Amino acid sequence: MQKEIVMFDVHKIREDFPILKRTVNGKPLVYFDNAATSQTPQVVIDAIIDYYSNYNANIHRGVHTLSQEATDAYEVARKKVQQHFNAKHTHEVILTSGTTHSINIIATGFTNVLSKGDEIIVSALEHHSNIVPWQMLCERTGAVLKVIPMNEEGELVMQVYDELLSDKTKLVFTNHISNALGTINPIEEIIDKAHKVGAAVLIDGAQSCPHIKPDVQALDVDFYVASAHKLCGPTGVGLLYGKEEWLNKLPPYQGGGEMIDQVTFEKTTYAGLPHKFEAGTPNICGGIAFGVALDYMNSIGFDHIAAYEDELLQYGTQKLLEIEGLRIYGTSKKKTSVISFNLENIHPYDVGTIVDKLGIAVRTGHHCAQPIMDFYKIPGTIRASFSFYNTKAEIDALVEAIKKAKAMLS
Ligand SMILES: *Cc1c(COP(=O)(O)O)cnc(C)c1O
Repeated sequence: MQKEIVMFDVHKIREDFPILKRTVNGKPLVYFDNAATSQTPQVVIDAIIDYYSNYNANIHRGVHTLSQEATDAYEVARKKVQQHFNAKHTHEVILTSGTTHSINIIATGFTNVLSKGDEIIVSALEHHSNIVPWQMLCERTGAVLKVIPMNEEGELVMQVYDELLSDKTKLVFTNHISNALGTINPIEEIIDKAHKVGAAVLIDGAQSCPHIKPDVQALDVDFYVASAHKLCGPTGVGLLYGKEEWLNKLPPYQGGGEMIDQVTFEKTTYAGLPHKFEAGTPNICGGIAFGVALDYMNSIGFDHIAAYEDELLQYGTQKLLEIEGLRIYGTSKKKTSVISFNLENIHPYDVGTIVDKLGIAVRTGHHCAQPIMDFYKIPGTIRASFSFYNTKAEIDALVEAIKKAKAMLS
């Protein structure tokens, strides 16, 4: 164990991220908004520059050299994504614009699968992107949305989940890790119990992928979605994994180029997987950079990342709790490096503004998870989310800034 910590050299890792050298308002940047988006290492920036400098072309349709090179690089990236998430087949990997897009593909696809009175189950800890598309699905089909509630610690109440499941349940969808609180949900149990009643499961892995390497086959999950930009990749690209039999069963989401087999005005037939769900010109450069980002994360190693981030979480939690009147929301024993908190009688937005003046980027607000804020009866929280390139010294700077904000605002 001692050896592993020595192998993880955060100061060396920070050299990979040019943005970490900049200042904000004359202070060194402290970037603690990693749950919203991660920063980009030089290798990923280089891959983007290389694409546009040397082989920018549309893919799959061209015979010319540039198009072939771009196609090859894009398909290499798909293969890297397949290997990282351990999908059985490459064609089960649909490259989308991100988690939100991926969820909408499935929610729209289920329109013809569900009937009036069918039930679908969501958790109380979801991001809006894993709530709203399903509410829209219920409006279209007459299906009923049920909610697994949460407790004060920010954990799901699994007893109620057991009671909600029945032969009416057709689909269950939950995140692996809550972006607002950091809670790690028991997805193995959720998936297993859903399958016992014949329901399919979608896991939103947007917040877990930066910390944990998932294995979709071991999980036996039906759908798994993620975004590259939370994993050191660029924005506007992400993953929809679906089991082959499900993806074959669901209709295409968008019509257009790339997703067809034959088009006539009488009838169009669709392309096979994965192209059926990839209408139009994709984010080619983004897809390629997604593959490079996964290589980068794997070169550091998810075991090292998780162990180091947990160290930051424990340190940050302890230091912040030393501030009088500070309350942390989300106190599950199973959580990742997200600390959501408030100062007594002070609006989170005011604190966020003051700490930004000191060069520290935290997020304030409802974090796209209003039901969680409603549960705690608060307008929002201040959220500091740590990544493997953050340091304890940066946490000390945050603690000092929060103390300063408290003194100014109370
Ligand atoms: C960020 C996030 C999303 C949305 O991801 P986009 O990239 O904005 O589509 C969904 N769910 C969770 C848990 C997230 O953290």
